[in-house]
Amino acid sequence: MVQRERVALQKGMNFRVRGGVAGYSIILMSVRPNAPYQDRWHNSGSHAGLLEYEGHDVPRLRGSSVDPKSVDQLLALPSGKPTDNGKFFQAASDYRAGRSPPEVVQVYEKVSDGIWCDRGRYELVDATMTSVPVERSTTATTMSRRVCRFFLRPTTTPSATTQDGQRELASSRQIPTWVKVEVWKRDQGRCVECQSKDNLHFDHDVPFSKGGSSITPENVRLLCARHNLVKSNKIV
Ligand SMILES: [Zn+2]
Repeated sequence: MVQRERVALQKGMNFRVRGGVAGYSIILMSVRPNAPYQDRWHNSGSHAGLLEYEGHDVPRLRGSSVDPKSVDQLLALPSGKPTDNGKFFQAASDYRAGRSPPEVVQVYEKVSDGIWCDRGRYELVDATMTSVPVERSTTATTMSRRVCRFFLRPTTTPSATTQDGQRELASSRQIPTWVKVEVWKRDQGRCVECQSKDNLHFDHDVPFSKGGSSITPENVRLLCARHNLVKSNKIV
C-alpha cells in the first residue's frame, strides 16, 4: 500500500523511474466504477490472464476548452520527444519483434482516494492503438479518437515492497478490489487494533499458509504495519 505519496500519485505511467537498464517502470491503475480510464483484467478470450492498461490522455491545458477525453492520445510531443505512452509503446514493439526482453512494470491499483495497493510485477507484452468513440459527444456526428492500450502479464519476480514479509503481501494481492473497498469503508481507514491511519495493510484473518479459504469482507481487516507484524502467522 502506498500512502505517503498521497498527492503525487495519480493514475499514471512512469517509464523506468529508477533509471538505467536496472530500473523498472511503474503504472498506477484504477478498476473502480466510474474510473476515468478503462483498466481491467481479462478473465477470458485472447488476452486471458493479462492486465489491460489504457494510455495517458493529453494534459488539460490551462485556459483551454479542449477536453483531453475528446482528442487522440499521443505517442510523441510536437517536438518529437516521446511521451510515456510512446516509451511504453516502443518497449512493447521491441519485445514483440524479439529486439529486447519485456519491460518490467510495477503495478499499483487505486482502491480509494490516496490508497494504492501493490499488485506486483508485470511484463509488458503488447500494445495497440485503437479508434474509440468519443464519450459525451454533443454533436450528432460520431466522433472518434485514438487510444493506446497496453497488455501486461504477471511475473513471479519479487515485488518492490518486501520489508513486511513476502507471504503477507502475496496473500494481500489476492484480495479482490471490491473486498478491499468494503473493508476500507467498514474499518474507516484505520487499524482495527490501534486506530492508526499509517502504513495500513489488508489482513486476511486466516493466513494462507494455514489454509485460509474464500476471501470475503468478514475475514479481511485493516491492520497497521506494527500489528500486522505482531500477528505474524499465528492464529490468535
Ligand atoms: Zn495498529
